[in-house]
Amino acid sequence: MRFITTFIKEAFEAIFPSRCEVCGESLVDGEEILCLHCLHSLPRTYCHRDSFGIVHQRVALPGLPIDKGAAFFHYIKENPYAKLLQKGKYNSRPEICEHLGLLYANELNAEQFFDGIDMLIPLPLHWTKRLRRGYNQSEMICRGVSGATGISIGDNLTAKRHSTQTRKTASERQANVRGVFQVNHPEELEGKHILLVDDIITTGSTIIAAATAIRSAAPTARISLLTLGCTKL
Ligand SMILES: [Zn+2]
Repeated sequence: MRFITTFIKEAFEAIFPSRCEVCGESLVDGEEILCLHCLHSLPRTYCHRDSFGIVHQRVALPGLPIDKGAAFFHYIKENPYAKLLQKGKYNSRPEICEHLGLLYANELNAEQFFDGIDMLIPLPLHWTKRLRRGYNQSEMICRGVSGATGISIGDNLTAKRHSTQTRKTASERQANVRGVFQVNHPEELEGKHILLVDDIITTGSTIIAAATAIRSAAPTARISLLTLGCTKL
């Protein structure tokens, strides 16, 4: 049975080769989601190397210490790389998010970024939104990161209500997400170093709301952040 499945898959790929999600060229053996050329040219932020990089700057608030901050690449709407997150989020392509999580984690792993991190927590979607989309893109990124690092994924954070952040000003976004997140079993987070994971950081208000909820529920938890995209403000 497995032989037949493999045969059908290979025959299908020979007729319809997988294409790079960025440039559209056919992928060759060993390439997945994006070709080596596009992976090499990805507009990386390297912000994890700064103690106060672009991720830290977006979420800087008194009383909300953030340990490490990492964003894979600069997200520019008109840039072809933006398609990776757009397809991963809206076009039912969860495997794109998972693969990018894996690629980024492999690169960060080489620089000991994950040393001391106990748990990955994806930014949750309200259950109605998750049901409609069929998956949570941040959870898929966590799967990729977990696959590369072996760090487990926690489900301690939930979204109490539905909130959309598109087409809102920075202050509207902040007000919109205040009190959205709820921490389940906070005792599991006390004293732990948590890596909060989201697909993209824009104003930072959603991540601030999630980090604030964790900080209030488990004050001894340390919090770090990882996203794939980071917009320019
Ligand atoms: Zn390409």
